[in-house]
Amino acid sequence: MLKNCEVCHRLFSHSTRTLCQECYDKAQKSFQAVKDYLREHPGATVAEVAKETGVDVDLIYEYISEGRLDVVPRDAVLHCSICGTQIKIGRVCTKCREELRSTITREPERATPSPRKTKEADRVHILENIRKRQS
Ligand SMILES: [Zn+2]
Ligand SMILES: [Zn+2]
Repeated sequence: MLKNCEVCHRLFSHSTRTLCQECYDKAQKSFQAVKDYLREHPGATVAEVAKETGVDVDLIYEYISEGRLDVVPRDAVLHCSICGTQIKIGRVCTKCREELRSTITREPERATPSPRKTKEADRVHILENIRKRQS
């Protein structure tokens, strides 16, 4: 399936990625640089990390909010997207996460795609129903 790269808008082909190979590699390198820098300088600030690695501040915040960094910059401030409480990692605070966990019944959008077997089984089931109706 052909799609446009989110960064350079060039056409590329990949089933899951939103970046072309070149931009994907660049993104991986940026992330690695931030991660490595924070490992070596655990007390660093976001501005310092951005300056030393050349990675955009916004991107660094993205890594933090995605929970991808095991060491976060000293002054990283994130807010729970539900109640607004200050948090250190992730998108929602632990309290809201617990509440979400108990209320959400449907699968999150980013969950691993349901196995094809289930879908095929469903289809067979539907076909059987149609056959039954026709006979
Ligand atoms: Zn690209
Ligand atoms: Zn919250």
